[in-house]
Amino acid sequence: MRRVFVTQEFSELRYVQSLLGEQHIDFVTKNEHLMGTGSAAGEVPPFFCPMEIWIADDQKEEEIAAMIQRSLKAPRLVQASWRCQTCGEEMEGQFSACWKCAAPDLSSAMHAD
Ligand SMILES: [Zn+2]
Repeated sequence: MRRVFVTQEFSELRYVQSLLGEQHIDFVTKNEHLMGTGSAAGEVPPFFCPMEIWIADDQKEEEIAAMIQRSLKAPRLVQASWRCQTCGEEMEGQFSACWKCAAPDLSSAMHAD
């Protein structure tokens, strides 16, 4: 097991998870549940527990870590993020609906910069 990605941004975590999933890379996510509503692990402040993605294949650590970083910097990720008006979760621009409560992006028309 090798750690290839660490983030405190749930939107980045989701993006990397989908990226690895698309490429059929075996991975596990650590600390993801700590970033939820807080009902499960109230004793640990989320900011002390960055979320981590670990891959099963040690040989691919550098390759996959580099691929993740390239993808995060790719132009298509520069879409403006938005905040769900139903639950308040912040979303990357590539999401058209809230991953948490499935509410659609209502803020796209506003451009509240
Ligand atoms: Zn939501």
